[in-house]
Amino acid sequence: MHVVFMGPPGSGKGTQATRLARHLGIVHLSTGDMLRQAKRAGTPLGLEAASYMDQGHLAPDALVVQVLIDRILEPDCANGALLDGFPRTIKQAVALDEHLQQADRRLDVVIELEVDEDELISRLMSRGERDNRVDDNLETIRRRLEVYQRQTTPLRGYYVNQHRLAKVDGAGTMDEVFDRILAVLPEKEGQCVG
Ligand code: AMP
Repeated sequence: MHVVFMGPPGSGKGTQATRLARHLGIVHLSTGDMLRQAKRAGTPLGLEAASYMDQGHLAPDALVVQVLIDRILEPDCANGALLDGFPRTIKQAVALDEHLQQADRRLDVVIELEVDEDELISRLMSRGERDNRVDDNLETIRRRLEVYQRQTTPLRGYYVNQHRLAKVDGAGTMDEVFDRILAVLPEKEGQCVG
């Protein structure tokens, strides 16, 4: 199964994505994690990405598409993958569709976690203190939320047109949210998703 996981920063997307990927037995690909890893490794790509990430801006489409597509075409993703934080722009979504189609694969569902903005800010502030993330401070948080609204929410329309978008209320406990996610998964032949 190929799943895209969308949600503003602080929506619990990473935690729920990890859990869902394990549940479905598919690889969890987070472009944010990949870029942070490349930054730590000090590769040219990582350093270029860092200049955007640390400010709360999106990294350039071409750079992120290259990282994600190279990875999703590896053999361990042949049965599917859960994409966490990608695509974030229409250009990325179109590139993803094209590459999957060439490999005779397609997206099954796009899940969007919804959480109200005050709750997002308070969750992100406490994560910044706990994990020492440079991009979790108030100014950068506000920019990332604004970037999400401006650049990523247009993806809703794109996926609504494809009849793939499933919205999930992200309020409540981790288990409550996870149950809501399971309820919107399409059933696939021979695969137990419940
Ligand atoms: P995340 O961990 O998903 O919140 O991503 C952290 C940062 O990595 C983002 O604020 C962006 O700077 C960058 N990033 C991650 N995924 C993407 C993407 N699909 N497109 C552009 N930038 C991205």
